[in-house]
Amino acid sequence: MWEFESQLPVSKPPGLLSQIGGTPAYVATKLSNRYGSTIYVKLETLNPTGSFKDRGSATGISYAIAEGKDTGTVSHGNMAISMAALTAETDADCTVMVPSDIPSERLSSISQYNPRVLQVEGPYSELYEESFGIGDQHGVLFVNSDTPLRVAGQKTSALELLSTLHPTVPDGICLPVSSGGNASAMWKAIRELYAGGLLEQKPKLYLVQSQACDPIATAFRDGESTVTPTTAGDTIAYSIANADPPSGNRALTAVADTNGAVCSVPDTEITAAQQELLESGLAVEPASATTLAGFKKFKSTGEISESDSIAFILTGTGLRNTIQTSPRISSISIENLSEEFSNQ
Ligand SMILES: *Cc1c(COP(=O)(O)O)cnc(C)c1O
Repeated sequence: MWEFESQLPVSKPPGLLSQIGGTPAYVATKLSNRYGSTIYVKLETLNPTGSFKDRGSATGISYAIAEGKDTGTVSHGNMAISMAALTAETDADCTVMVPSDIPSERLSSISQYNPRVLQVEGPYSELYEESFGIGDQHGVLFVNSDTPLRVAGQKTSALELLSTLHPTVPDGICLPVSSGGNASAMWKAIRELYAGGLLEQKPKLYLVQSQACDPIATAFRDGESTVTPTTAGDTIAYSIANADPPSGNRALTAVADTNGAVCSVPDTEITAAQQELLESGLAVEPASATTLAGFKKFKSTGEISESDSIAFILTGTGLRNTIQTSPRISSISIENLSEEFSNQ
């Protein structure tokens, strides 16, 4: 990703952080033949912690270090894993705030990198905003889903994709959407290239949600320009279950600006897509398989036309291995957060 250093708000850091991104994109032959148009896949699964989140973590952590701060995030998924892992090699400490009812398997995939883990009791959804203030007071830079530093880093995924495929430009880019941070990042790259005269037409952004939690798809379907928060149901695509997406409105605007679309798909179709991707040698997590499930839906509704070439952003790996450690995990109520940070 540091090939695009001049387009980033931070300088290239040393060590593992210097190795994020640079993931391949290629024509998926079997899928292209099956669907009768070119399908590209971009393997964000090959980042050090198996997801595109490493890009946004890399810019965020680099910035924190330059400012002499520690790092933090509010996440119980890939973003938490990414922040904990990529902070590990640096002098900074990482704080991850997770909900108190986090499944133990996911807790260990985060805690194995030995960050400080706060299992917060209280309304988890309030932490996203609350963390910024607490972080400011205590020298911790919270790099949450749609913070500008994260969006800046993650835009390199689209810059790489379009530079790998150059001079071909795909008609569309298909990716899962949850907080809307990554969709914002793709759109930012597209807008910047377009404004700089490096792109003649904007690829359409096709965003996919899980039917169990689809506030952005619902707003799109209803022709709204703002997203109404919903309640998340159970879904295997837990990485994309944000019921109150902080950048939901921006995602809708990105779709409108690029003439794309948003849809949602049920777990049964997500599982089928995950299986179908395995048949092309691609192990992805359910959230990431929504790209193919959504693509099929967009084709059936005519939102993606027969001959359109589409790039799937394979956001997260299906290959994970966790080592149990004795982690720094504490349970805490939301009222006692300030005290916890002061006692560090
Ligand atoms: C975080 C994540 C997403 C959703 O990205 P947002 O920026 O929250 O919209 C999609 N897929 C995977 C694998 C993720 O980890």
